[in-house]
Amino acid sequence: MLRLLGQVSKRAVTINLTMNIETHISLANHSTMRLGGTADYLLKVTEASMIPEAITWAKEHNLPTIMIGDGSNIIWGDEGYSGLVLVNQISGFEIQKVDQKAAYFKIGAGENWDKVVEKSVDRGYSGIEFLSLIPGTAGATPIQNVGAYGREIKDVLIELEAYDSLTNKFVKLTNDECSFDYRMSRFKNPDTDKGRFFISSITLSLTKAHPQKPFYSVLQNYLNEKNISEYTPAEIRKAVIAIRSNKLPNPKEVANCGSFFFNPIITMEKFVQLQSTYPAIPNWPSEENKVKISAAWLLEQAGFKNYQDKETGIKTWPKQPLVLVNISAKDTSSLLKFRTKIIDKVYDKFGIELKQEPEFIS
Ligand code: NAP
Repeated sequence: MLRLLGQVSKRAVTINLTMNIETHISLANHSTMRLGGTADYLLKVTEASMIPEAITWAKEHNLPTIMIGDGSNIIWGDEGYSGLVLVNQISGFEIQKVDQKAAYFKIGAGENWDKVVEKSVDRGYSGIEFLSLIPGTAGATPIQNVGAYGREIKDVLIELEAYDSLTNKFVKLTNDECSFDYRMSRFKNPDTDKGRFFISSITLSLTKAHPQKPFYSVLQNYLNEKNISEYTPAEIRKAVIAIRSNKLPNPKEVANCGSFFFNPIITMEKFVQLQSTYPAIPNWPSEENKVKISAAWLLEQAGFKNYQDKETGIKTWPKQPLVLVNISAKDTSSLLKFRTKIIDKVYDKFGIELKQEPEFIS
């Protein structure tokens, strides 16, 4: 560990940090896939005020900087990260502007997301109960506009606070300024601001109203089976937790990064052509003249249902083939090899190129 107190001379640079930057840290401990090389430098950020100091230090040393949460959507390269990794551990759960119908919740970006959902539901608020049990931190949710069962973080996010590394200032960005799209935002888009903003808090507007139908059929069926007709946030959260825990592996127990591929959104023309050969292909309406199809179904049809790849030590999760699970892989290149096998096979069979959902960082 490098204790950066007062004047420290490393690479002949004077540093006035009062923080502990760790050196040569295994990144496998910062990805729920548990693979990856080492980070040259890593800092646990517990206060927003640490961000400018850390970024200035990295800039002075010509080092790239990246901020992460729990690593639930990150694949690190085997070569590691030759820069400074900031692990967001900024806490905070503050209820503001309360009236009888709604309240604003200001949440530290490093808070565990599911704990945030639990606390809001326990207080009787609705808006994020559909996003129960999604792994990761609160600050990660706007990056890819996290969504589940038809609800997205963009539906409730009022604004967020972030450090802008371009102007070296903290800024407040409103919902409109985040350029949210399906599993996308300006923070993730390489053509706009990827890597520019370091999110320190998010503010959500949650209501006391009950969630309204229609619900995804998997959720509605569960509620029907359990004879639940009063759709409180607590009942929806309970249902989502039951459905997800039955189908998806717990990253604390089984190394995985959730869905490994996006559901492809294809043109109507391509869809009609596919449907003539595969009438059972699961599909949902998407943007105009486009159709969302099931990546999980494509994998199953390409032979990857409950498939264990002996060569690489990766397997597809029996109840959800979109989740790749690290059973015994020694390195990220093994995972990437298996990923390529899947992409190639699906492309050969359907002419559709699957896109990886977790971010690859090296
Ligand atoms: P699932 O319930 O098996 O559903 C599979 C896919 O079908 C989902 O991707 C979902 O699209 C789509 N789908 C199902 N019913 C639909 C409907 N009525 N209208 C439109 N699309 C429909 O999915 P799962 O893997 O167990 O995951 C459960 C939920 O968590 C899903 O909503 C999934 O998207 C979400 N999830 C989100 C992330 C993320 O935000 N990064 C990662 C993993 C899973 P949608 O993806 O559009 O919901």
